[in-house]
Amino acid sequence: MSYWRTVIDPILSVILPEQCRACAARECDLAGGVVCADCWQNAQLFTKETPLCGKCGAVLGTALRSDSATCKACDKMVFDRAFACGVYEGAISSSALALKKQPVIAKRLKEAIRDAIARNPGVEADVIVPVPLSKKRMFEREFNQAEKIADVASQCLDLPVDTSLLQRNIHTPLHRAGMDLRARELSVEKAFSVADAEFVRHKHILLVDDVFTSGATVNACSAVLKKNGASSVIVFTVARAVQGRC
Ligand SMILES: [Zn+2]
Ligand SMILES: [Zn+2]
Repeated sequence: MSYWRTVIDPILSVILPEQCRACAARECDLAGGVVCADCWQNAQLFTKETPLCGKCGAVLGTALRSDSATCKACDKMVFDRAFACGVYEGAISSSALALKKQPVIAKRLKEAIRDAIARNPGVEADVIVPVPLSKKRMFEREFNQAEKIADVASQCLDLPVDTSLLQRNIHTPLHRAGMDLRARELSVEKAFSVADAEFVRHKHILLVDDVFTSGATVNACSAVLKKNGASSVIVFTVARAVQGRC
C-alpha cells in the first residue's frame, strides 16, 4: 500500500461508506460483511446444475456432467465426499480471507453456507469437527475460522461441534517447496492426531474448513479420523479453489 493510501484510506473510511473488499466499490450497506451486493450477485455459488466431481467437489467440464462422474485426481483421497459453497474467487474468497482476520460470519455468507448444506441432503453425521489450527497459530490469531463456519453448520444441521477431538501438532505448510511425495506424506501424517480414539470409532464425521485448495489438509485430517475408526468423513468448506486459477 502506498504512503498516501495509508494516510487517505482511514480519512475516507470516516467520510465515505465502507469499501467492498472484492471490487473496491464504496457501498452504504455491506450487510455486516466485507463484500457488496453486486459482488455477491456475481459470486460463483454452486447449484444443483454445477458439474462437480461426485467425490471431491472439484468443478468438472460440462462434458463430464453426471451424478457419478469424478475428476479421478481424488481417487486416493480418503474422505468420502467433499462439498463447498462455491468457487474461491470474488465475494467468496474476500469473505474467506476476511474470516481469517475477524471472527464474524456475515449474513450473506451464512446464507451461502445454509444453501450449500441444503443442496447436499446426504450430510448425515454424528458430530461436526473443524480443522484445527496449531497452538501457535491459535495463540497468534485468537480464534479458528473453521470453528466459526462449523458453528453455522451446527445450527443448520442441529449437530454438536467438537473442537478438541482433532489436534494439529505442528504448523507446517503441507506443501513445502522441494518436498517429494513421501516427505509430504510423512509431514502430513505427523500433522494431526485424535484426542479420543474411543469416541471416533464408528462415528460419521462432518469435517469443516474454510478453503479446499489441494485437499491435502482435509485429507490428512480424514486419514487420522479413519485410522482411528471413523465410519465416514464428509468434508465441507466455504470455498473451493479451481485448479489452474488459484
Ligand atoms: Zn463489490
Ligand atoms: Zn474429485
